[in-house]
Amino acid sequence: MSINDPLLDFDRQHIWHPYSAIGANQPLWRVKSAEGVRLHLADGSELIDGMSSWWSAIHGYNHPSLNSALQEQIGKMSHVMFGGLTHEPAIKLAKLLIDITPLDIQTVFFSDSGSVAVEVSMKMAIQYWHGKGKSRKQRFLSLKNGYHGDTFGAMSVCDPVTGMHSLFSDTLTEQFFVDAPTCKFNASCNEEDITPLKDQLKKHHETIAAVIMEPIVQGAGGMRFYSPEYLQQARSLCDEYGVLLILDEIATGFGRTGKMFACEYANIEPDIMCVGKALTGGYLTLAATMTTKEISETISHGNPGLFMHGPTFMANPLACSAGVASLELLLSTDWKHNIKRIESRLVKGLSACEALDNAADVRVLGAIGVVELKEPVNLADIQPKFVEQGVWVRPFGKLVYLMPPFIMSDDDLDYLTQAVYKILSTQP
Ligand SMILES: *Cc1c(COP(=O)(O)O)cnc(C)c1O
Repeated sequence: MSINDPLLDFDRQHIWHPYSAIGANQPLWRVKSAEGVRLHLADGSELIDGMSSWWSAIHGYNHPSLNSALQEQIGKMSHVMFGGLTHEPAIKLAKLLIDITPLDIQTVFFSDSGSVAVEVSMKMAIQYWHGKGKSRKQRFLSLKNGYHGDTFGAMSVCDPVTGMHSLFSDTLTEQFFVDAPTCKFNASCNEEDITPLKDQLKKHHETIAAVIMEPIVQGAGGMRFYSPEYLQQARSLCDEYGVLLILDEIATGFGRTGKMFACEYANIEPDIMCVGKALTGGYLTLAATMTTKEISETISHGNPGLFMHGPTFMANPLACSAGVASLELLLSTDWKHNIKRIESRLVKGLSACEALDNAADVRVLGAIGVVELKEPVNLADIQPKFVEQGVWVRPFGKLVYLMPPFIMSDDDLDYLTQAVYKILSTQP
């Protein structure tokens, strides 16, 4: 960390960072450029990136095909309004998305970010039921430990404790929650796991528009992997009680878990799905809310006969062309085999952490590796240690986790996991 960096000083005093405080003097590093899996810092050092910039930079940084797709698009137009106008990047991306998502998912609503995609999914569910003459169905049921974004609607379905609902209690809509499943990814699911969901649906289905959950992997709310059987049961319960199922694939989508979408582990289809994060390969902010013909048509034939949402930068052509390039790149590789490679490397590299006194659990699924500690880390203390080791790892709470770009070599993966072991073994 450079001590005398006036840019950093300005930043500290004037710019908010994610979940940050102004003037708190948290460690902060200035990145000058990034290439492949490496971040180049202003002080000349370089870091191997273990985070893919929060699930998004799956092809690494500064990728020639993504760069040239964007350069080509910028020469045509960077943006044009989407009301009454359309363009090839949006059409191409929608086609690709419809191709790779579950069969019944046939329409696409583009928006700016994951949180907005979740807001849109909630509005779709409400408008669908309105169109069906069931306008009492306006509330949502979600899982504890879930994370769906930071805007108010999305926040209302995040874990009430880690999402600090108490702070916003008079503004936030109260939703229904059930305990997150405890059945592990490789295990089957017990009656006790599913009973809470069943009970809540039985009691409240007349006012519930949809169940919303992250399939298989609960991300920012705890990095928990759960059994596909739970998802199958949730699907049947939603059908039984006349409630929609929204799957938030914003973190899990585009191969990260070893399937293109995590819901494929359960062989089920959602009614509405949200994608974001890796959609543009980490180049630009873009998300999409996708749904079935049935739901789209019900909304379109209902009152007011329109879906009530329309962002200024909807389907931004630059972002869409990044999305097209990123998906074409992913599909042109043997990505499944590659994720298996990363998975086995993470298993091998992180297994050493199981022996650490401070580790509670080590788990890996696809290109996601997690070391859960017994106590929360002190971020201000531990993060500089990772940087000194030449890796970018950003833990939260008790979780030290890796989700590397898919292009990371075996050697870099080994270096990364060894650095994690090394730092954690020096922690109290
Ligand atoms: C990150 C995330 C969001 C929010 O996306 P933003 O682009 O940060 O608004 C929503 N749901 C899940 C599962 C996420 O991981």
